[in-house]
Amino acid sequence: MSSIFNFEKFAQNLGNVCHSYCYQCQCKTTWKFGKLTEWARLFRIKTLPLKKEYFIFCEPCGDDHELDTMEFKKVEKIVKSLGSIDDTHLKESIFKRIHQKQQKFVKTFYIDKA
Ligand SMILES: [Zn+2]
Repeated sequence: MSSIFNFEKFAQNLGNVCHSYCYQCQCKTTWKFGKLTEWARLFRIKTLPLKKEYFIFCEPCGDDHELDTMEFKKVEKIVKSLGSIDDTHLKESIFKRIHQKQQKFVKTFYIDKA
């Protein structure tokens, strides 16, 4: 028996954001951003977007990091007008966080292997 309500997630790729170093790929790569929307379906009709999540990810390895709504809106605005967030303070602040996380992961990975 199938339930009346179903939940579905749709990921949308919104295109290039910038070029930056990726610690997973160990080289400079293209980063993209996207939106994940969770929908509730009543019978077969898409009804309500329940939740939206925003993220930025490395194109070659797919390593993704969450963006808050404010960051996402800023990224979207800058990409629309300038084509990328390269050479902006926004990029600096986002990648400071991403690189810290990635380095932590790389360190943990090596400790686990030892
Ligand atoms: Zn990567």
